[in-house]
Amino acid sequence: MLKRLSIITMAALLTSQSSFAVESDLYLGFQYPGKAQNAISITFDDARHSQVDIGTAILNKHQAKATFYVSPFNAKERLTKWQDAVKSGHEIGNHTSSHVCTGNFEWLRKQNLSLEETTLAWLENDILSAQAYIKEQLGVTPRAFAYPCGNTFVGRGVNTKSYVPIIAKHFDSGRTWLDESANNPNFTDFAQLTGLRIDGLSFAEIITMLEQLRENNAWLILAGHEIGKGDQYTTDAKVLEQLLVYLQDPDNGYWLDTVSNVGDYVKTQREK
Ligand SMILES: [Zn+2]
Repeated sequence: MLKRLSIITMAALLTSQSSFAVESDLYLGFQYPGKAQNAISITFDDARHSQVDIGTAILNKHQAKATFYVSPFNAKERLTKWQDAVKSGHEIGNHTSSHVCTGNFEWLRKQNLSLEETTLAWLENDILSAQAYIKEQLGVTPRAFAYPCGNTFVGRGVNTKSYVPIIAKHFDSGRTWLDESANNPNFTDFAQLTGLRIDGLSFAEIITMLEQLRENNAWLILAGHEIGKGDQYTTDAKVLEQLLVYLQDPDNGYWLDTVSNVGDYVKTQREK
């Protein structure tokens, strides 16, 4: 509260009437359906096999919809299951064809894949080829994108370029990874929505994170990889189930839906 008052007071003192209005809007709060305090989306990247081998059954049991950012090289090995995921109402997003990100990852550099050594034109083509594959094989046109490894650049040093504008051109939203903040619904850039890691966390750790980040009616986007039992890139299946029960209890104040459903709602409210 102190921070909020001091920012508004500062804005009143330092800025004109009109920019004060813009500044203070960020702190006016935000109305979600069903009087929820926060919106929340659960997302998974890479189209890892465990997402459809284990994860979708858990989500379907709780009638929860998630957003899956798919790369074709994984999806093609479970194509029927991914088609079933679409039928169950889950959102399919785009995660590039090559999963190119920083060449500091050995497995990418060995394939001559690195954002440091690529161009915007090559990358746009790689993204659009994943888009074509998903349309053809899963029958949906992705509106959401997740940046592999959360990286948003191509090139090096003074020649670095952002590929955020390419995502803004082709998609309604782009999500990064390993962020430390949630999305302020009155402010966030849809081309760089933040993503909060849930892999490797216990239920208690996830709830602690949510409580820390749910201020100002934030929209929290959770991000994971494998689903089941495993390492730091795995969201524990039991934890996922506990989380779904928690998020669907209206007393806890969350509206759980896919990235594009929440995004559409937030955009409409912001344009009012
Ligand atoms: Zn990925």
